[in-house]
Amino acid sequence: MKELWSLKTSTKNYPIDEKIWIGEDGELLEIQSPFDKKFLFYTDHHYQGLWKFRQQIPVFDVKNIVSFGEGSTPVVKEKWNDQEVSLKLEFLFPTGSYKDRGATVLLSKIKELGIEKIVEDSSGNAGCAIAAYAAKAGIEAEIYVSSQASPAKIKQMKGYGAHVIEIEGTREDVAEAAKKAATKTYYASHSYNPFFFEGTKTFAYEVWEQCKDMPEEIIFPVGNGTLIIGAYIGFSELVSAGLLKEIPRLSIAQAQNCPSLSKDVGLNFQPTVAEGIGVKNPVRKNLIHQIQRLTKGNYYTVNEEDILKEHQSLHRKGYFVELTSAVATAAIPKTSSKKVLVPLTGHGLKNL
Ligand SMILES: *Cc1c(COP(=O)(O)O)cnc(C)c1O
Repeated sequence: MKELWSLKTSTKNYPIDEKIWIGEDGELLEIQSPFDKKFLFYTDHHYQGLWKFRQQIPVFDVKNIVSFGEGSTPVVKEKWNDQEVSLKLEFLFPTGSYKDRGATVLLSKIKELGIEKIVEDSSGNAGCAIAAYAAKAGIEAEIYVSSQASPAKIKQMKGYGAHVIEIEGTREDVAEAAKKAATKTYYASHSYNPFFFEGTKTFAYEVWEQCKDMPEEIIFPVGNGTLIIGAYIGFSELVSAGLLKEIPRLSIAQAQNCPSLSKDVGLNFQPTVAEGIGVKNPVRKNLIHQIQRLTKGNYYTVNEEDILKEHQSLHRKGYFVELTSAVATAAIPKTSSKKVLVPLTGHGLKNL
């Protein structure tokens, strides 16, 4: 099985178990999976949550799986004025955000590779997820955060026993500090490390399994794109396996104050309350644009006032999510699609 998988850049292939997170030439790594028409899509019901898809995940020895039974999040139907909307409750994870999808797979792989110490950088939820799964795996985690990161999230990371290093400066400065530290250890980055996406891709498998009637459009709140990219990988595999005709439109929602994926020139950046997607330079920007183009996805921006209003409105409907999640539902009235699905990405308890 292992031989069928590989790591690749546009010019080079590497064995799947090479201890690298970026190509030699500094190019981003992707994972080449063996799925095609001959591939049978297995689910293994001895495992809970997303690990029932373990045959589709490049962790080869089950004793390396680092899991709290995460995944299989509910899909709930709602009315939005006159639109039928499905909400996937991606805040129902052990650390309070969908980032656990990526972290459970990445930390399992890291355990399989025999790595004992990792470095990550994050504005919040990714750091919490990596710290929790590192704690479960008994792996030492060093997490670089901006000194402006949410105090609740920093407390959560420290609670898991991670070594948290606060950096003054922009998010880019934080990433640079982490990358420098990673020259001596292993970079468990949610945006660079391709194994993270092997976890977030299970979002697509679940949507495919849960929705008898597939959505026409899925709207994601996008910063570095870990969920939209994972969804694209998962849906593409289902199409290759002949199980799905067409990938839904994968649409991007961003704060108007941080429109890093807008195609307009001369972008103007300001702080946003949607801290989970306040990313000026998404690492895989080209890939995200390509996904939007290939799936005919839309691009939406939401201003600060509308984010706050939508956040309150979600709470009134019974969804206690964090501000970032409201950016995607605020875009629902802007689409003409009849069947829309939106992931609610982060738990509201983090915003208190
Ligand atoms: C990380 C995050 C996002 C956006 O994810 P990206 O991978 O940066 O696109 C959205 N909502 C919440 C709550 C998050 O934590």
